[in-house]
Amino acid sequence: MSNPIIQKIDSALSDAGAKLLNAVTEAEIEEVRIEILGRNGLFPALSKEMGAVQPEDRKAVGQAFNTGRTRFQELLDGAKQRLAAGSGAKSCDELDLTLPGRLRKLGHKHPVTKVIDDSVAIFRRMGFIVADGPEIETVYHNFDALNTPADHPSRDPGDTFYFKDGRLLRTQTSPVQIRVMESQEPPVRIVAPGRCFRRDTPDATHSMNFHQIEGLYIDRDVSLADLKSILQAYARELFGPNVSIRLRPHFFPFTEPSVEYDFSCIMCGGKGCNVCKQSGWLEIAGAGMVDPNVLKAVGYDPEIWSGFAFGMGIERIAMIRYRINDIRLLYENDTRFLEQF
Ligand SMILES: [Zn+2]
Repeated sequence: MSNPIIQKIDSALSDAGAKLLNAVTEAEIEEVRIEILGRNGLFPALSKEMGAVQPEDRKAVGQAFNTGRTRFQELLDGAKQRLAAGSGAKSCDELDLTLPGRLRKLGHKHPVTKVIDDSVAIFRRMGFIVADGPEIETVYHNFDALNTPADHPSRDPGDTFYFKDGRLLRTQTSPVQIRVMESQEPPVRIVAPGRCFRRDTPDATHSMNFHQIEGLYIDRDVSLADLKSILQAYARELFGPNVSIRLRPHFFPFTEPSVEYDFSCIMCGGKGCNVCKQSGWLEIAGAGMVDPNVLKAVGYDPEIWSGFAFGMGIERIAMIRYRINDIRLLYENDTRFLEQF
């Protein structure tokens, strides 16, 4: 049977520990401190009783007294820290249930993200899968493999961001086509949305970084008519059933023949307005049948396989869809602007 003083210390510490654990205010903690260490508290009272302790118990009681004080100080410090960290249990009378709740603002999808998501969904329904590629590209993937002549102006350091090691920030999503064709056998049916970079001076229609979505379809007997029907279906899904498209001959290094394609103006329905400069058509982007040289470069036999590629600027589509007249608005992150979508 241990000394009654040791028993008192033990039971007082376990009571104090429980009280401190539930303490939610500094006053409650102070109350416990006074009970134990205050002038009329437990320890000063016990120290007066020490004189009456039998000599053979003195050492054990003295030790219990000292470790008890230390332990109690630790309990006090712990309770204070919990309180400071705000993790103390809240009692009901501290909660004012009549206060209005804190409304968390819901975010908005950025117009660029919306166009990417919607476009990907449309192409997925037509059997395309999403492919991805690096934003830092090799000259080979960004230009050479896409049949871009060595003296093509787009390779100029004034137009393209190069790294010291010769790599570059991709200027288009087309290198993803090359990477996909290098890594798999035909048939191929992919779309590749992503960020691109060009050394353009920012203005209402140019930005140094922008997004494209790229499509590639390689199979047997693919024709320009397939390209037109895919683009037509995309335009109608995105802008409505009355949109028509037209192809105009053009030149791109990696497609032959190449076309630019337009959607009929969604503002005026083709009658002519300011947005379409009275032409009734909105220029969208470029496309074409993949050049046999590109197919050969990735090891596809152009005698067996053919296909088309198309690309378009996401910002261009977003600006038409949401009637945005300056591309820079898309990058300023002004919530007053973004909240409208
Ligand atoms: Zn128009």
